[in-house]
Amino acid sequence: MTHQAVIVGAGFGGMGAAIQLKRLGIDDFVVLEREDDLGGTWHVNRYPGLAVDIASVTYSYSFEPNPWWSHWYARGPELKQYAVHVADRYDLRRHMRFGQVVEGATWDEAAQEWEVRVAGAEPVRGRYLITATGFLSQPRMPDIKGVHDFAGTVLHTARWDEAADLDGKRVAVIGTGATAVQLIPELARRAAHLTVFQRTPIWVTPKMDREMPRAVQRLFARVPATQRAARKVNTSVLELVMVAAVLHYRQWNLLNRGAAAIAKRHLARQVADPELRARLTPDYSFGCKRPTFSNDYYPAFTEPHVDLETSSIQRITPTGIVTADGRETEVDVLVLATGFDMWDANFPAISVVGRGGKDLGAWWRATRFQAYQGIAVPGFPNFLSLASPYSYSGLSYFTTIEGQMKHMDRLLSEVARRGASSFEVRDPANEEFLGWVTERLEDSVFSLGQCATARSYYFNQHGEAALLRPSSTINTHREAASFPVDDYEYA
Ligand code: NAP
Repeated sequence: MTHQAVIVGAGFGGMGAAIQLKRLGIDDFVVLEREDDLGGTWHVNRYPGLAVDIASVTYSYSFEPNPWWSHWYARGPELKQYAVHVADRYDLRRHMRFGQVVEGATWDEAAQEWEVRVAGAEPVRGRYLITATGFLSQPRMPDIKGVHDFAGTVLHTARWDEAADLDGKRVAVIGTGATAVQLIPELARRAAHLTVFQRTPIWVTPKMDREMPRAVQRLFARVPATQRAARKVNTSVLELVMVAAVLHYRQWNLLNRGAAAIAKRHLARQVADPELRARLTPDYSFGCKRPTFSNDYYPAFTEPHVDLETSSIQRITPTGIVTADGRETEVDVLVLATGFDMWDANFPAISVVGRGGKDLGAWWRATRFQAYQGIAVPGFPNFLSLASPYSYSGLSYFTTIEGQMKHMDRLLSEVARRGASSFEVRDPANEEFLGWVTERLEDSVFSLGQCATARSYYFNQHGEAALLRPSSTINTHREAASFPVDDYEYA
């Protein structure tokens, strides 16, 4: 049996795609998910301190606002609850199959459909294939000598073990990305001694977080327009940071320097020791790598039982970490806040083979990472890739997914209008889009700022900043609703 569509991934991306299919009257689809429940990032990540760092009025579907967020910045479990609510509300759960590790998908030219291979199960067939495998979904183990020899407890933040005993232990954290920024204050509260191994400091700006007053929740519930207004204001501020300060650096570098100054003032207010402050200060331009927001990250380093280690790691032994200066820090628990492998393991997250045996991963690597409007690729009929190069728009993932939902709406409505059975983006349209993003990126901090020392996952193995769509979110949404339908071929 062939379904109308197969979606891979039951996170917010896959659920958005599923909602869009339903809006288009397509109900015969399955969502294959490798985990044992829905929610993607918010199901998998359970480390202490997990929260959103984009205000919740913005970090949610605009068409499904939640007036009841407990804080301006909701905590991790609330996001999982929200995902469950959305799945129930839109009747998505009956489409979902959990524990399905998708190995790959191949276009069947004769049948004009996709065959999706699932480990240990029968293949699933679909007319459309939509991959919603996320950007940060393949945990990265650090390539440090001896990492597998450590005899104590090892925890990767994306595979957290809630039963792990941290209280009164000597704990080491490797990494100082957005995850570590949330986790370190929590570990500092519990560990007897905490050593943070930092390779590259991160820009941290204040987080204006507080409990959501009951009166505001009620107001949002009774007068939804007020929450929509709050979303607009918040999204506009994020847009200024991301689009103006980062993507339009040439025109707005003053704003970029302003953001850096805010972060530096934040650090100065929270850390008195100039030597410690210097070690926590990035030497690359603001925005080269994703900045983060926190009020309790810097203060953690001023506690007597917390050390910042900036000497590079030489190797890991069964009992601790040896740095390049030959010192060994002995620890009981080793926390790997080492992030995710985006460019080697994630684009694409599964093998995708299109028309004439064209392998998506191989093609991206042999040419350039590219996707028309961050969603479609020539040679891959009836395929939409939500986690694509140049697809991430703005700072909140919901901006990206809602733009992609609009694109699906326009494209699949056109397929239906023409009575076609397949679509495929045309080469020239794809090339024009790639040219457009390449040109616009010349104005960004990635081209004009000092990013060489940032070690940012925004950059791929060829040194291209090929993740973010270099446009305003208004442009993203306008294009998604108005791209020339003839950019696709229909058959
Ligand atoms: P990340 O930003 O990639 O950070 C990984 C950290 O591990 C970096 O500090 C990196 O150092 C370090 N590292 C990796 N390999 C290492 C090695 N071999 N030796 C020493 N250090 C090593 O990952 P993340 O912190 O998990 O965050 C990923 C993204 O998730 C964020 O940027 C954000 O988009 C998202 N996130 C969002 C939220 C939220 O609230 N919305 C919260 C957490 C995360 P280098 O920088 O030197 O490579």
